[in-house]
Amino acid sequence: MAGIYIHIPFCKSFCTYCGFYSVKDRGREDKFIAALQKEIFYKKDFFKHAGVSPETLYIGGGTPSVLPAGGLARVVGAVKEGFGLVDIPEFTVEVNPNDITPEYVRSLAALGVNRVSMGIQSFIDRHLKWMNRRHTAAQGEQAYRILRENGIRNISIDLIFGYEGLSPEDWEYNLDRALSLAPEHISAYQMSIEPGSVLFSMVRRGEYRPLAEEVCRMQYCRLQDRLAEAGYEQYEISNFAKIIPGEGTPSGWRSRHNSSYWDKSPYLGLGPSAHSYDGRKRSWNGSSLKRYCEYYMNRDMNADADADESSYTGGETLSRAASFNESLMLGLRRKEGVLLEELDRSLLNAALPDIKRMHAAGNLIVYREGGTEIIGADCMERAVKSGELSGYKMIIPSAKWFVSDGIIRELFILS
Ligand code: SF4
Repeated sequence: MAGIYIHIPFCKSFCTYCGFYSVKDRGREDKFIAALQKEIFYKKDFFKHAGVSPETLYIGGGTPSVLPAGGLARVVGAVKEGFGLVDIPEFTVEVNPNDITPEYVRSLAALGVNRVSMGIQSFIDRHLKWMNRRHTAAQGEQAYRILRENGIRNISIDLIFGYEGLSPEDWEYNLDRALSLAPEHISAYQMSIEPGSVLFSMVRRGEYRPLAEEVCRMQYCRLQDRLAEAGYEQYEISNFAKIIPGEGTPSGWRSRHNSSYWDKSPYLGLGPSAHSYDGRKRSWNGSSLKRYCEYYMNRDMNADADADESSYTGGETLSRAASFNESLMLGLRRKEGVLLEELDRSLLNAALPDIKRMHAAGNLIVYREGGTEIIGADCMERAVKSGELSGYKMIIPSAKWFVSDGIIRELFILS
């Protein structure tokens, strides 16, 4: 399922842990939107070339909700006109609770937004303060109610675990509060030390000690258990969708937009630092609002977008090995895992000893699609060697998802 991502590069303040590209400097929204309109025009044939139609629009950032409703309307208008869209089946906007008012939410709904992703992160004020979030716990819950009461049926909230100061009791409390809201979707991420973030500098200065791995693992296990008990399907390592029989979109309450990244569908990223993939090649804009505006405002709009060569933009066609590794990295993060027939056959053969080793250690399961039959190592080896892989899937059992990065890296083919 193809999708469009728009990076709105503005934040009112910077969160302690954040390594995303954004600027605090207000007053450049108009220039940014004008440049974005140009970029959209320049890339209007992206999906035609990829042979697909976009079905999801995700406006993220940064903080899209720092844009006034009129600014967002200009962005959405340009996207709809540029790509010939009328209704967008899944249209998500990321918001900060501090920006949410009934009027703003009604404006979003009027634009066709049918899914909101809100960065709650914690329900504990001292933790929110340490994270330099600009909302309190009470404002987070209030914003959630405002979203609900003003027409947003599909709400996702973000939570963070695994940081110094988050006790087991704190984490249980956060899970209690999150579940009491009953959002359709929850994304939960372990605190990571992102280069360029304030937290990164704090670690270097010895002012922050990452939480012990074992404690993080226990918090992740509690997350899995509590959300499963509450009726959420963990369909990806960090993502949980509420299961309500008979409700939801055709894919339930899963994020259809994010699913397109994981199944390697084409997507177009617009805005500074955004990345795109057309099914063959990856391309990206650099992380600078100033250069973004200069580049697209001055660009010859009749130039061939495929032949884009500048020091501001970048692109690469993945090697066979890189593409194989990426398929594993993206696919094994999902509940559905990877279909072996979609992997490069000779590289799969080369990875077989490592697959068997991980399989023997209980870190991988291979089964036939449509059945529950678990395939033994010998049977799997015969299938890989014969090339008769139709329906074979490889997954990481959910009990091992906390260490999935390490498992997946063991399977990588060196370029
Ligand atoms: S986490 Fe979100 S709101 Fe915070 S600085 Fe990063 S992009 Fe901005």
